[in-house]
Amino acid sequence: MYVSENLGTNEKGHLTIGGIDTVSLAEEYGTPLYVMDEQMIRKNLRRFHESMQKYYDNKGLVCYASKAFSCLEMCRIVASEGDGLDAVSIGELYTAVKAGFPMEKVGFHGNNKTDEELRYALECGVGHIIVDNISELHRLEAIAKEMGKKPEIMFRIKPGIDAHTHNFVKTGQIDSKFGFALETGEALEAVREAIACENVALCGLHCHIGSQIFDIAPFEEAARVMLKFIAEIKNELNFEIKQLNLGGGFGIKYLESHDPAPFETYMERVSKVVKSCCEEYKIAQPFILIEPGRSIAAPAGITLYTVGARKEIPNIRTYVSIDGGMCDNPRYILYQSEYEAIVANKANEERSERVTIAGKCCESGDLIGENMPLQHAESGDIIAVCATGAYNYSMSSNYNRIQKPAVVFVNEGESRVVIKRESLEDIIRNDL
Ligand SMILES: *Cc1c(COP(=O)(O)O)cnc(C)c1O
Repeated sequence: MYVSENLGTNEKGHLTIGGIDTVSLAEEYGTPLYVMDEQMIRKNLRRFHESMQKYYDNKGLVCYASKAFSCLEMCRIVASEGDGLDAVSIGELYTAVKAGFPMEKVGFHGNNKTDEELRYALECGVGHIIVDNISELHRLEAIAKEMGKKPEIMFRIKPGIDAHTHNFVKTGQIDSKFGFALETGEALEAVREAIACENVALCGLHCHIGSQIFDIAPFEEAARVMLKFIAEIKNELNFEIKQLNLGGGFGIKYLESHDPAPFETYMERVSKVVKSCCEEYKIAQPFILIEPGRSIAAPAGITLYTVGARKEIPNIRTYVSIDGGMCDNPRYILYQSEYEAIVANKANEERSERVTIAGKCCESGDLIGENMPLQHAESGDIIAVCATGAYNYSMSSNYNRIQKPAVVFVNEGESRVVIKRESLEDIIRNDL
């Protein structure tokens, strides 16, 4: 009935998450409020690493892409499941360090890492750095030399795959700010240079073809392209690439009509492609890394809001205004993303209207969605927006000097705050 399997209704007709009444959560912690189900986060991580065990003989590592949602507790949970982590900034690295994350299981990404970030990554002993471009290779080589280190690196490759997703999140094609191009020979030239470097150790190749991808075929195609390149490196340069990082981008259900392929099927089919290509090209099977972000965090989370004004514009539309908006969820204003919404205190009623849910910021585009089916919502009702666990808190802002909401985790019938709600004092804490 709902887009996420952890949502339901109780005897009061209230929406529940992980079995807990969302209306009570709104009363206890206030709104807007992010709520995430810890068991579902764990379950999602396990789906990936268990299918890696089953279909690829456990020769791999799942690295949660922490940009989807990062905080100390999230890092602790990922660590306790034995998985790795992906970081794209010094802030994400710092969070992992402070959470006591095993840094040898961390990969450091970014298309424009600063010297400060590279130094910090080496200091905290990240497992590998995914080098995006040739000038970064040169800077890293110099910094590693100066620090007396020899980090393992991977190269980010543009495999030239069209993943049929939103243009803004399509990253595998040649016109992208990320990575080295294959077609032009740029990637092979970079590999040649890296092999000659004394202070970095090239261990792998990486690709990430986009986000919110429902089909498996583009992932299979990317794996084929990457293995062909690994074979080319072996034949041309007599060098063995031992690790292949296939990135993230697995789609999730935001709407009932969405139909993403299950993770298990992805792993089964991609493992088959990897194994058969290795046989065909006579290369050893690489250690595989994957980097799911959205598919781990998004389905585990919801956002709760309180309804304020209701504005019916005859023959045009009805606006239902909430106490949050683009500050806590900028995905509509960025990508016109679609969500499912439910009036949490009327969850058993029909979604009999179609409304526009509007935020409280001074932007006309500050919406959660248009033409959304919803129960009749009035002032004081609680609205739950589903599948907001990824790229909501992590993309939130203080626009209009609005305080960021708290994040609450529910687990086995209990709830706890993992990120505090910002106070007014927090809003001016860096002002002089
Ligand atoms: C964003 C990103 C991911 C995670 O993507 P999802 O769509 O959230 O799974 C993984 N790897 C890289 C390099 C990324 O940039």
